[in-house]
Amino acid sequence: MLEATDLKVEFPGRDGRRARAVDGVNLSVGAGEIVALVGESGCGKTTLARTLLGLERPSFGQVSYDGRPLSYSGRALRAFRRQVQLVLQDPMGSLNPRQTVYEAVAEGPRIHGLPDEEPVVSAALSRAGLRPPERFFLRYPHELSGGQRQRVVIAGALALNPKVLIADEPVASLDASVRGEILSLLLRLRDDLGLSALVVTHDLGLAWNIADRVAVMYLGRIVESGPTEDVLTNPQHPYTQALLSVLPESPERIILTGEPPDPTRIPTGCRFHPRCPLATTAEACTTTTLQILPAVSDPQVACHLTPVTTPT
Ligand code: SF4
Repeated sequence: MLEATDLKVEFPGRDGRRARAVDGVNLSVGAGEIVALVGESGCGKTTLARTLLGLERPSFGQVSYDGRPLSYSGRALRAFRRQVQLVLQDPMGSLNPRQTVYEAVAEGPRIHGLPDEEPVVSAALSRAGLRPPERFFLRYPHELSGGQRQRVVIAGALALNPKVLIADEPVASLDASVRGEILSLLLRLRDDLGLSALVVTHDLGLAWNIADRVAVMYLGRIVESGPTEDVLTNPQHPYTQALLSVLPESPERIILTGEPPDPTRIPTGCRFHPRCPLATTAEACTTTTLQILPAVSDPQVACHLTPVTTPT
């Protein structure tokens, strides 16, 4: 459905160096599939998501939708953005406080010139679980709960009848009790409408609850990917193991030392080697670059010590 191939995105960085925010990524989201893209802040996952939405242009590689490379002409992007919609992380920040729920949800259909605005808005609110929808038309964001605001944001995306949602930390600002409801809603939308979703998160617990597949990103690259259960119950990459070790049920916490990742200074060899607890066990860690992982569903790991790594 939506695919990144050999994708690189660079920005001007400090000291005249280029920041390689996305530095060679293959990633696909299939029809009706939910993929979680996880990693610490600054790992490049938001830049990757923005590039998949057509909001950033790749420096190299391409984004494809439905088998066709994305074109960056205004008209093509407009058509693409009806199919691939963004759900932002902060409902208070992404909703205009002076706009009613109706106005917020109607904005996309108006921009795209869709007919029958009121039925479209009603249907989107209903699908997002705000029923009866008319009860919410004239309400303002401050009159809603956090969960209802997040549902309005989702309704705004659904109003364009998209095929793919890209959700950036969709429940990060919500109470634990409401998070489950919003995650159930996303799963129901997948089941009822066949929607695909890329969920961008730092939260592996969220990935566990919602995703069919997980891709773990570190310093601009996917370092491990595969079916959620494989990656989260049997993580192979030392970085995934460290991320998982902070979950409450983990028996032992792995503290990562070394410098925080800097996309203007990507280390030689394995990019994780300055922080990897196992880096001293193989000389290749500091000298030999790892292959970019392919966009396949089977488990993939970018580590010299892991035999299941499959070169592209
Ligand atoms: Fe660690 Fe070496 Fe594997 Fe990189 S290649 S993750 S440094 S063990």
